[in-house]
Amino acid sequence: MIKLTQEVVLIKALILLLILLFSLTGTGCRQTTARNLPPENSNEPSIETPLPTENEIAPPGEETENAGPEEAENTVEDILHLHPNELGQVMILMYHEIGGEEGSWRRTVENFRSDLETLYLEGYRPVNLMDLLSGNINVPPGTTPFVLTFDDGTLGQFRYLEDEENKTVLDPDCAVAILLEMAEKYDDFSVAGTFYIYYPVPFRQQAYVEKKLKALVEWGFEIGNHAYNHENLAKISREEAIKALAKNVQSTLKYLPDYQVRSLALPYGARPREDDHLLAGIWEDITYKNEAILLVGANPAPSPYAKNFDPLRLPRVRADGQELPKWLEYFRQHPHLRYFSDGDPETITFPEEFADKLAETATGGKKIRLYNSDDY
Ligand SMILES: [Zn+2]
Repeated sequence: MIKLTQEVVLIKALILLLILLFSLTGTGCRQTTARNLPPENSNEPSIETPLPTENEIAPPGEETENAGPEEAENTVEDILHLHPNELGQVMILMYHEIGGEEGSWRRTVENFRSDLETLYLEGYRPVNLMDLLSGNINVPPGTTPFVLTFDDGTLGQFRYLEDEENKTVLDPDCAVAILLEMAEKYDDFSVAGTFYIYYPVPFRQQAYVEKKLKALVEWGFEIGNHAYNHENLAKISREEAIKALAKNVQSTLKYLPDYQVRSLALPYGARPREDDHLLAGIWEDITYKNEAILLVGANPAPSPYAKNFDPLRLPRVRADGQELPKWLEYFRQHPHLRYFSDGDPETITFPEEFADKLAETATGGKKIRLYNSDDY
């Protein structure tokens, strides 16, 4: 009996030692890797922004709001030990075709599944682009939001099949089905993603266009503008570009009369020199307004609360066999640059050394919470 108790004590001591070692290495990594920023991320913001005043900063000891009496909510202390950094970077992933042989614009079904599993297991949680933009980032504390985007409305993104009884069934290997499967499997994997479609036949099955667009919105996905017929907006006139953007919206509205198309992914990543008409325009009686414009390349985006966040030039990470693993590794090596949520969409939490990156105009009245990362 005594021997057993001694063993338990020993095991406990060993576990404590391991936890201590683990947290020390974690902190050390955060402190030493800041100088290794690659050039594309080195546009350091200026330091003119004053720190938030005392009464804007929630004291670290304060309990989280809305903690139900029955639920054991995390305290602020618990959350700060997860090293939240809501001024860290966010990946907006860009996919094209799913299925078939792997290629430069094509991810196999297996690789797509494994991307999502890897992301999930490494603490990434999908959010819709519009929620990222508005700061409605509702992911668990200590996890990282990411955005899924799919260009071109290919068949492998959303395919219906007919079974032996001629019943229409969702192809379990199309991107939409795989995302729904992930959401079914993991409670905190939300159905999210934006499909940048063009016409006349998005997802390439004429008979199902309406059914698909309605289903996407019902499930919680977003639909974006990719010009009417994938026009290169840098190579056509301003008038033609306005028409191409408005006709895309007009076509989506034909199927979804109440839907608001709110973002644009540039076909070929091509942007005309003068680009104000990409933001908003009118053709015949159709108006369009884009709150976000997505580029084709090539790195993670700044936090939506950071000074260098520009919704009209949002970079995307190409989700292929090179770029996605590269950026996942980058964030493993530089965890202090990665967005980690505090789990509360109403509070923006970050380490003090990031304070000069905060765009005070982007906080939308949310509570700001700074902490000293040496203390946690
Ligand atoms: Zn495209």
